[in-house]
Amino acid sequence: MQLVPFFKYSDIFSVNEDAFVATVRDVGRRGAFILQGDLREFERHLAEFVGAKFAIGVANATDGLHLLLRAAGLQLGDEVIISSHTMIATAAAVHFAGGVPVPVECGADHLMDSRAVRRAVTARTRVVMPTQLNGRTCDMDAIAEIADENGLSIVEDAAQALGSRYKDQSAGTFGLGGAISFYPAKVLGCFGDGGAVVTNDSTIYRQVLLLRDHGRDEQGNVVAWGLNSRLDNLQAAILDLQLAKYPGVIQRRRRIASLYYERLCETREIVLPPAPDTSPDHFDIFQNYEIEAEYRDGLQQYLKDHGIGTLIQWGGLAVHQLKALGFTQDLPYTDSLFTRLLMLPMNMSLSDEDVTYVSDIVRAFYGYAQ
Ligand SMILES: *Cc1c(COP(=O)(O)O)cnc(C)c1O
Repeated sequence: MQLVPFFKYSDIFSVNEDAFVATVRDVGRRGAFILQGDLREFERHLAEFVGAKFAIGVANATDGLHLLLRAAGLQLGDEVIISSHTMIATAAAVHFAGGVPVPVECGADHLMDSRAVRRAVTARTRVVMPTQLNGRTCDMDAIAEIADENGLSIVEDAAQALGSRYKDQSAGTFGLGGAISFYPAKVLGCFGDGGAVVTNDSTIYRQVLLLRDHGRDEQGNVVAWGLNSRLDNLQAAILDLQLAKYPGVIQRRRRIASLYYERLCETREIVLPPAPDTSPDHFDIFQNYEIEAEYRDGLQQYLKDHGIGTLIQWGGLAVHQLKALGFTQDLPYTDSLFTRLLMLPMNMSLSDEDVTYVSDIVRAFYGYAQ
């Protein structure tokens, strides 16, 4: 039996082990651990890559969102509209910035539904915060139109979307700013936690720069209440190595998505993500390959019995379903969708044969010929 784990964490190190070890030695011998040149270099390269004026390394994307919302001037009790199909981190960032997260329905592409955003706007709404989920960027024209009409700011949860584009503009650059995650299993992963904020707004840039380092300005004067949320210089050095190879990573992930699509598009019991190049407006980078499946739990068990790891995002619960946190929204579309969601393996360890095998087992589960 072929074994196809959902994600193999050790591979992200072993794939380029010699270069990583050399980087650790180099950074270590220089004693360059906090806010050093490697971080500034990586920030410069990252900003260039997404086409933003500024990038700021932070401890993780959750902090990045929190700092962005504070830099945007969110006030106590301000409402922030989010998609319910996102990580709790999105809502938690709003909560800890003093705001009230308002989860809304996602649409058929699993991303924030702009019609639901429009319905959720109240007099207290200040920000709309789409999650650029699974490596795809929302229809940002529709969201920008609602934001403009209602005087709202846009902040993007681009944790899963580095390099994803909508109408040739990168995720993270549509509004005041966006946060990107470098969690190991993310498309660009480091060896622990890491994140970045990208922005074109120099005021937001200066604010986030202060807030990530105890509220200290360049002279070391404390001018605001800040956090300790710096991206480690060592992680930045590792990430800079990874970023140089990132275009090839995107290409490979899109190739895997095409292979899945070729093999599975005629399987009626499942709904696949759009194949790469389906729409000229979207350039997807396939952080995840999230399908909708009839008899989802049975399929997951069948795949497991055949050595294939899958994952149900967020432990199977949308944000509004987290009753312990006091959410009361009624979102029937998302509720129904969450009974069918399943992520097939999508990572750099997969061979073409692995993708064929996974597809064949999916087809076999539904009784199709190989
Ligand atoms: C991973 C993720 C986050 C959190 O990123 P961290 O760097 O782990 O804080 C937030 N939102 C989404 C959609 C994510 O996938």
